[in-house]
Amino acid sequence: MDTVRRPLAFFPPRSVAQAAAATAILLLASCGGSSDNALDTPPPPDRTQTCVVQSDGGQSVVVGSGLPGDPAAPEPASGYRPNRAATYAHQFMVSTANPLASKAGCEVLQAGGSAVDAAVAVQMVLGLVEPQSSGIGGGAFMLHYDAAQRKVVAYDGRETAPAAATENYLRWIGDSADSGTPQPSARASGRSIGTPGAVRMLGLAHGDHGRLPWRELMQPAITLAQQGFQISGRMAAALERAAPALARDPDAAALYLHADGRPLPLGALFKNPAYAATLSTLAAQGADAFYTGDIAQGIVRKIGLDRSATDGSAITPGLTTLADLASYQAKRRPALCTTYRMRYMVCGMPPPSSGGVAVASALGILENFDLAAHPPTGIDLNGGKPSVMGVHLISEAQRLAYADRDAYVADTDFVPLPGGSWQTLLDKHYLKQRASLIDPGRSMGRARPGDFGPPQAVVPTQEAGTSQVTIVDSRGNAVSMTTTVEASMGSYHVTQGFVLNNQLTDFAAVPHVNGAPVANRVQPGKRPRSSMAPTLVFDLTPEGGMGPLRLATGSPGGGTIIQYVTKTLVAALDWGLDAQQATSLVDFGAANSPTTNVGGEHPAIDAANGGANDALVQGLKALGHTVSVNAQSSGIATIARGQRDGRPVWVGGADPRREGIVLGH
Ligand code: GLU
Repeated sequence: MDTVRRPLAFFPPRSVAQAAAATAILLLASCGGSSDNALDTPPPPDRTQTCVVQSDGGQSVVVGSGLPGDPAAPEPASGYRPNRAATYAHQFMVSTANPLASKAGCEVLQAGGSAVDAAVAVQMVLGLVEPQSSGIGGGAFMLHYDAAQRKVVAYDGRETAPAAATENYLRWIGDSADSGTPQPSARASGRSIGTPGAVRMLGLAHGDHGRLPWRELMQPAITLAQQGFQISGRMAAALERAAPALARDPDAAALYLHADGRPLPLGALFKNPAYAATLSTLAAQGADAFYTGDIAQGIVRKIGLDRSATDGSAITPGLTTLADLASYQAKRRPALCTTYRMRYMVCGMPPPSSGGVAVASALGILENFDLAAHPPTGIDLNGGKPSVMGVHLISEAQRLAYADRDAYVADTDFVPLPGGSWQTLLDKHYLKQRASLIDPGRSMGRARPGDFGPPQAVVPTQEAGTSQVTIVDSRGNAVSMTTTVEASMGSYHVTQGFVLNNQLTDFAAVPHVNGAPVANRVQPGKRPRSSMAPTLVFDLTPEGGMGPLRLATGSPGGGTIIQYVTKTLVAALDWGLDAQQATSLVDFGAANSPTTNVGGEHPAIDAANGGANDALVQGLKALGHTVSVNAQSSGIATIARGQRDGRPVWVGGADPRREGIVLGH
């Protein structure tokens, strides 16, 4: 590993005076310089312009300083922050769902770290400041682009079912119905907790692509956990919703609730010494320390505790053992790359996520239509208003894509895809046939899967929670990582300062339907099917190879991730929206049902009376769509290659529906 670097300097300011001092340090520490060909050969970054935001008065403001204009200053969670402009950088860039996490990633990049280094630091901070969405007790998928090798690899850190899990693990305590159901629910019991994969995945990726020592990457989160930060609007709202469930677990209650059971509120100074101690162990002993020794024992004890909750109600234990932890494997997988319009190569996450297959399937259907002819109207900072035909075609393509995804995709280490690889479902001739099923004048309502033998029985799973991290480093390497504890606050089990996931509820709890096995049923060691879709897009060379990186994106949102990512890709690639506009644009799309989503939280949509006065909603209804204007909670983070003042730049966007920001130089 290359160790040439500057030491990391982090400023977790606690007071305005300290913050001012930190700002001064940043300003004085300038090392100057900028470049005209920065995307190719970066000079050292100018620290005065790096990892800070500009206030309305044009001042540089350190994130987390508490000074006016600080994006980390807590505000109540709001539905949509309108009129966000794109961020530009020449050297490197990071977009995450939390300002303190973006800051940690940016400072790693500034110190010479790689995209993977930054992702490690970001994940450790997210587990502290956004515990409702992701953390070391969860799992993640990471797509990595190695610019020197021109190679994309998919890293799989998905949780696994324990070796002792039977196919009834989620629905019954024993192996028959009369044994009772997991208490207080499958999700809130030990049964939902999969063996966490994020840490081993980050360790694997860091071994391949790290430049800074692993131990340094723990430091920003350790410092923040010790010194504290102010609880953000989204974290406060999540704690408020989860308070009764968190109260059942003494460790969760001690961490996130007052003694009387009230959740810690917006703006409260939150410290997490137990998390700092856990990360200190990982810093000293490496990622493997998570899977053996004290940390692993603490995890297994927490999952397996046969106990009454603090309120006297039962909590059904899970069957995870130390051997499950010790034998957990993160995997390198070939990225799933397909062409789009013979102009782009779109690389996504292969199974066990269904995200890459479904996004590629939708795009492969859509390239048979001239989407550029149906752009949004009135394009502004929020992306404008999608056209009726644009939404119609895209949601119809998604119905077809979801139909195949639902019928055929699960963990391919257990359930092969039709034809033995994703090539069959994504064959261009096949997708052209699928495209011919779309009627421009009428919604199909529900699509049938393609005919590849008997489809697997489908049992829908519930998903919500998760975070997207998108990074480009100064060497042009990129990371798109979607990371998750599954639902908000995971399984509500806390150990050693972190939340344990409920990812196993992404399995189908019912293993057979009409005698046919469900592809996504629980099996020992299996990974539950995901919808996460971290995506990297490249220009296609004239020879059909992988050209320069064009775009990196991804989103949380459970099953709707596929819709959010497809929207962002079409907006950027077909409609020419910049990274922020594509991210901000109305979230729309459909799973395989008659309902088409049109995100009513967006200022371009008139959601009153179910969209009765909204031209897009009414236009879709006239084509036979059932339209939902429920607010969408995407968390898209996008970085795209662009031009500014004749120079190449990275253009960044953070989802206005969450708290994130883009930082860079
Ligand atoms: N657990 C879900 C999945 O892996 C993600 C949940 C979410 O995005 O909220 O697809």
